[in-house]
Amino acid sequence: MGKLLFGLPETPVVPVEGEEIGYSLGRIFCVGRNYAAHAAEMGIEADREAPFYFTKAAVNAVLTGAVVPYPPGTENFHYEMELAVAIGAPVFRATREAAAASVFGYCCALDMTRRDLQIRERQKQRPWDVGKDLENGTVLAPLTRATEWGRPEKQRIWLEVNGETRQDASVEEMIWSVEDIICHLSGFYHLRPGDLILTGTPAGVGAVQTGDRILGGIDGLPPVELTLAAAE
Ligand code: MN
Repeated sequence: MGKLLFGLPETPVVPVEGEEIGYSLGRIFCVGRNYAAHAAEMGIEADREAPFYFTKAAVNAVLTGAVVPYPPGTENFHYEMELAVAIGAPVFRATREAAAASVFGYCCALDMTRRDLQIRERQKQRPWDVGKDLENGTVLAPLTRATEWGRPEKQRIWLEVNGETRQDASVEEMIWSVEDIICHLSGFYHLRPGDLILTGTPAGVGAVQTGDRILGGIDGLPPVELTLAAAE
C-alpha cells in the first residue's frame, strides 16, 4: 500500500505527571450513574444490579487547559467531574487482584454532555451517542501513577464554574469501586494499556455557557480545566 488518501486528527497523548512520558489513548469507557445522589438528580434510582457503560471516541478528547467552542446542537451543555482510571496492563475476566494490578494511574476528567440530547434519546429508547460522544467532549488532566497517588479512598472530588463550587463529594461515594468496574468491564472486553475508564460523576451537574471556566479536582491529582468559547 502506498500513500494514504487523507490524514486523520491525532488522538491526544495524556502526559504523566512529573515524567517525560506520555500515555497513548486507546478507548474511553464511561460508567453511568455511579453515585446515588447524581442518579437521583437525574430522576433515576441507582441500583446495584450491575454497572453499565457508554463509550466516547478518544479522538474527541482534549487535554486540560483547552478552550473549545460551545458545541452545536444543544441548549443544555453540562459538565460532569469524574475520576478516570488508566489501564496499564492487559486484563480479561479479571479477578480482584488482577483488576487492582492492571491500573496504571488516575487522572481528573470532564465528561461533557449535551444533556438535552442525552435525555431526549434516552426517552425515545435510542442510543445516547449524540448526547455524550461529542467533539472536545472528554477533557483530561495529566495522569498520576497509582504507585504515587494510591487508590480511591476518601479523596474529595469537586468542580467549580467561574470560581463557584458546583460539585463537592468524596470518591468513597462511588457505588462501584474501581476493582468492581474492571472485574465487570473485563468480562466484555480485553482491557489493555490505553484504555481509560471514567468512573461516573457525583451530584451537582449543571449547564455551562460561552465564557465559562470549568475547573475540577480530586485530592492529590492535577486539576482539569476547560474554557468555553463562542459557538462556531
Ligand atoms: Mn459521566
